[in-house]
Amino acid sequence: SLAKRSGKPWRLHSADEGETATQQFSLMGELDDALREGHIGVVYQPKLNLVTERIDAVEALVRWNHPVRGMLPPDSFIPLIEEHNRIDDLTIAVLAQALEDMRIWCLRGLVIGVAVNISAGLLASESFANRVLALVSRTGAPAHRLTFEVTESAQFEDTGMAVAMLDRFRESGIRISMDDYGTGQSTLNYLKLLPISELKIDRMFVQHAHIDQGDAMLVRSTVQLAHEMGLKVVAEGIEDAACLAFLRTISCDYAQGYFIGRPLGAQDLADRVAEQSALAA
Ligand code: C2E
Ligand code: MG
Ligand code: MG
Ligand code: MG
Repeated sequence: SLAKRSGKPWRLHSADEGETATQQFSLMGELDDALREGHIGVVYQPKLNLVTERIDAVEALVRWNHPVRGMLPPDSFIPLIEEHNRIDDLTIAVLAQALEDMRIWCLRGLVIGVAVNISAGLLASESFANRVLALVSRTGAPAHRLTFEVTESAQFEDTGMAVAMLDRFRESGIRISMDDYGTGQSTLNYLKLLPISELKIDRMFVQHAHIDQGDAMLVRSTVQLAHEMGLKVVAEGIEDAACLAFLRTISCDYAQGYFIGRPLGAQDLADRVAEQSALAA
């Protein structure tokens, strides 16, 4: 823009980077307004229970509906918000919305568990844990219907601290899921140390498991390992029927992915779940 007008030979890369930095800077400045004005919302992706063949849980995924830039995906703003130490406020907003939507679903007679993504860095924050537990108890939400997804790829700054924090959540009834399982660094160590209830196998292993022998072996043995440890397994990134069929043959507990359903707004999600109940009745 500026460089173009000046007519000088310009370096595309540095110009782009500069613009990105400015854009991101202004995005941070807009966070409070966006939270206040409801531009930050939550969509819900269904999880299919492979034992009952019903959707009985969802993953909450944050969206920033920016008035100028349109719908922003989480990968475009979460890292920035983490860097600026505002991920606690964002996560509390997502959790509050998810609990409110859960309450409304409940009024329609729909029992749906909700998983919320928790950045690993938050597991070093006592105040975040306090805010979570205060919110859950103030709203009277059923904590056992809440799951926190923690990505193992992110290094915990202090594993002892993270374990203590996760223990507090677990004691209040909240389930812990290890997200993007298989992509991280100290996988077995975390499996041993963290008080988890569930493994979520990353889609890079799942997506071709029905056509790739190596992936099939990894997914099958991970399901076995998890079951021996008393954990449930969610496979993410199911994009076709053949993949879903494969997961059924290896007794995977839950399937999630575009083939099951794209993320939906709270009301559409409820309609989808209600429809399946009506079909079964
Ligand atoms: P994730 O927790 O692993 O979430 C799954 C992502 O994969 C979602 O993207 C989802 O839309 C996408 N996905 C689901 N099914 C399929 C599929 O069949 N194929 C493909 N290719 N993709 C699929 P999304 O919503 O863009 O979220 C990306 C990441 O952003 C999430 O990965 C999570 O790490 C993070 N994130 C989302 N919401 C939050 C939040 O509220 N707080 C934090 N801290 N992180 C969040
Ligand atoms: Mg997740
Ligand atoms: Mg994941
Ligand atoms: Mg992911």
